[in-house]
Amino acid sequence: MEDNMVNQLISLNVKCPKCGKSLMDTEKKVDDRPGIKLAIKTAKHSGNIWLSSLYGSYIYDCDITLMTDEIAQFSCPFCKEEITSHEFCETCNAPIASIILDMGGKINFCTRKGCKKHSAEFEDLSLALKKLYEDFDSYSS
Ligand SMILES: [Zn+2]
Ligand SMILES: [Zn+2]
Repeated sequence: MEDNMVNQLISLNVKCPKCGKSLMDTEKKVDDRPGIKLAIKTAKHSGNIWLSSLYGSYIYDCDITLMTDEIAQFSCPFCKEEITSHEFCETCNAPIASIILDMGGKINFCTRKGCKKHSAEFEDLSLALKKLYEDFDSYSS
């Protein structure tokens, strides 16, 4: 199994690292799948952002305007806790936000608009691959 195939096909279920609530929004589709809903705050505005749950996709929908290169604060829409981690982006040095994968592991992404740095750390890669096959089955049926 090639790594990039996993990246293209796997769709993720994520939850808040603080309160454990699912961040999947079935009412709001991104890439034809439930979006990952987060509260977002910039210097001037606050609103919501929905990230694609398809790993490797940079598609998102946001109800506020983000300036190029602006760093945003992300937080949980339920408990309002910030999900910014203590790590910094290798590419642009902005803070990294991280959310928890329900299959174990986490997704890290850069909080700077336009920076495409993002990664997944799977606790159990064989479980991730199993999910990939299940997803693949539902595509072909
Ligand atoms: Zn929360
Ligand atoms: Zn970055």
